[in-house]
Amino acid sequence: MHLSLLDILRCPYCGGRLELVTSMFHQRDGDEIHDAILGCHCCIFPVIAGIPVMHLEGAATPARAHVEAGRPDLARRAMFDIEDDARAGRLDAIASSTDATYQEAIEALGLNLEGGYFFYRFSDPSYVVAHQLVRAVAGTVLRGGGRALDICGGSGHLTRSLMDLSSPPPVLADLYFSKIWLARRFIAPGCEAVCCDGNAPLPFARGAFRYVMCADAFMFIWTKRQAVLEMLRVVDEGDDHAGHVSPGAVVISHAHNQHVWSPSHGQPLPPDGYRDLFETLEPRLFAEEGLFADVVAGGALDLARRDAPAALDRDPALVCIATRATAVFRPHVLDPSPGLPGDLRLNPLYHAEPTGDRLRLLLRFPSEDYEQEFGACRQYLPDEVVVDTAAMAALGQRPLPPAMVDLVRTRVLLDLPKRYY
Ligand SMILES: [Zn+2]
Repeated sequence: MHLSLLDILRCPYCGGRLELVTSMFHQRDGDEIHDAILGCHCCIFPVIAGIPVMHLEGAATPARAHVEAGRPDLARRAMFDIEDDARAGRLDAIASSTDATYQEAIEALGLNLEGGYFFYRFSDPSYVVAHQLVRAVAGTVLRGGGRALDICGGSGHLTRSLMDLSSPPPVLADLYFSKIWLARRFIAPGCEAVCCDGNAPLPFARGAFRYVMCADAFMFIWTKRQAVLEMLRVVDEGDDHAGHVSPGAVVISHAHNQHVWSPSHGQPLPPDGYRDLFETLEPRLFAEEGLFADVVAGGALDLARRDAPAALDRDPALVCIATRATAVFRPHVLDPSPGLPGDLRLNPLYHAEPTGDRLRLLLRFPSEDYEQEFGACRQYLPDEVVVDTAAMAALGQRPLPPAMVDLVRTRVLLDLPKRYY
């Protein structure tokens, strides 16, 4: 973490500022804090591998003891929550290697159940909508500067979408240390990451951000009312007494609808339930289906639309946008930028079969469960395409041949973080 993160970091329990406890073990490199102890009015929290751990759940307490004892390696291992020595050793090797991949790391971390979700994330239907929401909404409210926060952001796929929009760099917050470690290492290097509990007050100062989002995860937060009021608080810039307002925005995307069953249902609310969470700012609700159709059609994401109650009621997933920035609620031409450029690669959902000097690219889902939950991606991913082997081998060249441009449009080729697989 950069030292300046202390300006916006607050204790989730007492609200106090945090300070680096210089009398205890700490490792820093200039303004970057790697491993240390932070103290507020009421407690102390560890910083492990550059990530402040701002909760007292699970391994946080034993991990803090390891930092205090000058063993940040054991602290990281505790936060990874790995008992098996062989696997822990493999992760230590990945952590210190420069050519290990994201795919190897999620396997070593045992994120197998969610591994499919994470590994194939860059072309799943909720991602393609959320990515365009980020580009449209964050792109509007952060135009004059300001910082973004991605809560329950997992391993940072959408934090990556924010990298070129947020200044200073975006903050990724999640309860699971291993996921945000993956984000900092592979998916969104350069972001700040904070390990914290979405069911507790957010460990940030009022008005620290201008954009806050929660994608694919809000139905798993139990304290939803507190979570929304906290999201509003961290983008509340207050009155600057000069009549200037730079409105921030709160975006909740892919929140499951209580009225429609979906896989990994969580504890969702009905549309009016989501609306009622926002006491001080009326949100606009969107049926995800309409926004998804916009993205598939390839023109613009139309945030000027007003979805009828019946459309909201029958959609499995909803999007809530709360902001006073009226410029958000208009059509936004789809933005092809990945946020943080990586390498153009074959979408890992495709299996390549050589036939002579050509390659057959076949869509293969990792499991039936995956296909059931994310099968709507068939609306843009073709079952099969045949390409020139030589053209595939020359993906790094610019300009791309027209056939390759088409594969980017259909998401057979993706801009993926470096060393993704
Ligand atoms: Zn405190």
